[in-house]
Amino acid sequence: MKFFLIVAACAMLHAQVYHFGKVWDGEKTINDADIVVDHGEIVSVGPAQHAQAVNMTRYTAIPGMIDAHTHMTYVLNIPVGRAGRGAATVYLSQDNAKKTLETGVTTVRNLGASNYADIAMRDLIDKGLMVGPRMFVSGYGLQKPRGNGNGGRGGPQMATGPEEVAKVVKEQVDAGADVIKMYASTGSGQDVTGDQTFNYDEIKAAVDAAHAAGKRIAIHTYGPAAARDAVRAGADSIEHATDMDDETIAEMARKKIFYVPTIDHNRYYVDNAEMLRYRPGATDALNDFIKRNLETAKKCVRAGVRFAMGSDAVYTMFGQNTRELAWFVRAGMTPEQALKTATVDGAALLQKEDKLGCLKPGCYADIAAVEGNPLEDIDAAISKVRWVMKAGAVVVDKR
Ligand SMILES: [Zn+2]
Repeated sequence: MKFFLIVAACAMLHAQVYHFGKVWDGEKTINDADIVVDHGEIVSVGPAQHAQAVNMTRYTAIPGMIDAHTHMTYVLNIPVGRAGRGAATVYLSQDNAKKTLETGVTTVRNLGASNYADIAMRDLIDKGLMVGPRMFVSGYGLQKPRGNGNGGRGGPQMATGPEEVAKVVKEQVDAGADVIKMYASTGSGQDVTGDQTFNYDEIKAAVDAAHAAGKRIAIHTYGPAAARDAVRAGADSIEHATDMDDETIAEMARKKIFYVPTIDHNRYYVDNAEMLRYRPGATDALNDFIKRNLETAKKCVRAGVRFAMGSDAVYTMFGQNTRELAWFVRAGMTPEQALKTATVDGAALLQKEDKLGCLKPGCYADIAAVEGNPLEDIDAAISKVRWVMKAGAVVVDKR
């Protein structure tokens, strides 16, 4: 009996207690609740009863959010000599990581980086040597050489034919990738063409190689053709895709394949077309793409496709990671459904449902405190994040 009392007393010494006005745990709302945190994890969420609790009654606690599509190592204007730019990338990317945390995003799935800068960042953050969200990273995103190839791969991300594709997938896994990324169509920045690049056999080879290594695979496609093949091949998530046909959408719902539409990233490109020195008229094409992207998202919502929130943030878009949620509400989701895409659903995509995107005993103590009720107005989660905890440590405090 004495022993238990001592253990309980010690546990309380280490534990931190936060008293919130509301807690949305990923499933339901609990009013006037204490979250007890210990050793980076949530011990309990329940009725307020701790005298020593930190007073957070002005705020609603939501799980630290998950951005399922980032490019954390994309930095503009690297002010060092050409040869040193790759090495400078990780250092300069710290700002992107900090701005991401400020949005209440405590986990990202980073889909595409050069020189394994993403793996360096992930490991530095995991070891507490850099401040940033938990990162699940892909290494290089597979690409198909364009034009009539003159032999040779032309870069560590390049592959042609199923065998080479499987080899490049394995290289990413061996380098330490958590997830595989494949660019199966054109389209990026001001280029909104969605011409399929990898064919069905190549996509299937990538899916099979990723799954054989125990990894999930995200397929980038701007157009419907590569999306159709990726869904048929059993990919785990489809990034961006517009104009998907009803049959493909139905198959996505049936196979529980995630849709990560990243509608807002083209809004960012429209807003910053001048700074990015896009060609005249680029914004018309981008706006047209946004319209079709939103229409496709509406169809997917109606068909019951699972979504994950991904910003596709690059350059100066970090800090705007969660604006995508407003597009999801426009696409027909309730605020709560939208919030789930950035919490429980994102966690399911990462296969971390018991640890991420939840505020329940055993989940990581990743918490965002927001002003207002995001279940009534999604903007609370987008622009009213005042305090963020990651693994039990306060990383943002704007109270
Ligand atoms: Zn991307």
